[in-house]
Amino acid sequence: MRVTFLMKCSVCGEENYLTEKNKQTTPDRLEQMKYCPKCRKQTLHKEKAKK
Ligand SMILES: [Zn+2]
Repeated sequence: MRVTFLMKCSVCGEENYLTEKNKQTTPDRLEQMKYCPKCRKQTLHKEKAKK
């Protein structure tokens, strides 16, 4: 089962990326270093469930 969720910048709280994952193969919350246009640098992005 694939779920869609947002990747949210842990520094400024901006929701920058929309991502998909397989909940069965990846049950953990994702945390990835991604570029945040608001911070203008790579920051830690955490997954946030889409409404
Ligand atoms: Zn940011």
